[in-house]
Amino acid sequence: MSRIAYVNGQYVSHADAAVHVEDRGYQFSDGVYEVVTVIDGRLIDEEPHLDRLWRSLNELRIEIPMSRASFRVVTREMIRRNRIRTGIIYMQVTRGVARRDHPFPKAAEPAVVMTAKPIRLPSDAQSEAGIRVITIEDIRWPRRDIKSVSLLPNILGKQQAKEAGAGEAWQVDKDGFVTEGTSTNAWIVTKDNRLLTRNANNDILNGITRLRILQLAEAHGLTFEERPFTVEEAYDAKEAFISSSTNFCSPVTEIDDKVIGNGRAGELSLSLRKAYREFVDGLEPAVA
Ligand code: PLP
Repeated sequence: MSRIAYVNGQYVSHADAAVHVEDRGYQFSDGVYEVVTVIDGRLIDEEPHLDRLWRSLNELRIEIPMSRASFRVVTREMIRRNRIRTGIIYMQVTRGVARRDHPFPKAAEPAVVMTAKPIRLPSDAQSEAGIRVITIEDIRWPRRDIKSVSLLPNILGKQQAKEAGAGEAWQVDKDGFVTEGTSTNAWIVTKDNRLLTRNANNDILNGITRLRILQLAEAHGLTFEERPFTVEEAYDAKEAFISSSTNFCSPVTEIDDKVIGNGRAGELSLSLRKAYREFVDGLEPAVA
């Protein structure tokens, strides 16, 4: 079956999908994106993702390209046309096509692109094995709250992790506090069972999965705190995990060659992962 992409109002074959060479996303990273996960036909947290897309667009003063209702329609159409059961919908909005010049163009219309692809979720056994994380300097700009397509530091960090045989790199600010992973939020559980993740301000992307996990933690009566934690606190943690739309809550068992806890996926991390899965299973399928 051939893949279908959505480009500015048209459904086209993925192989032929294209934007103009002077699209400002291509030339200036002048655009934003979202990734919404589909699991067994259910769209996970679609509305908070659209809220964040709207926020990113407003922060960069990019015109809203189409209504939220239209985004919902196109998203479902992409699931249908690409026959996605479990996968991701990638949506990107750029400031549009204009003669290359730094200031905002006067006449450009924002450009909307969506793609869809199936993904294989890690099995419980794979998650329980845990991943290794390295720490690296956070070299990003000070507006990490905006989900901009400008991802160079994230790409370099992820590659560094890969070359070190790790699954993620935790970025560290100039004061020694962990900000977040290159495509995930960072969490630890202290020896006295406090769940910690950095508070959401301009220093991190406020992950939709992060927000969902905080809500589940509250519903399950867990003690949690939203505050920065140091690399040393992370080394000393009882548990650690990462969160994102495609990873949910994935245990971390090693940070910079330091074994975390007993070296196995932590109890609290696994119980949050289970709670997340139950939340997903309780959602209605998005397409008939
Ligand atoms: N932090 C960064 C830098 C990210 O790129 C992402 C996801 O792409 C996340 C955190 C997790 O966000 P979400 O849970 O919305 O997928």
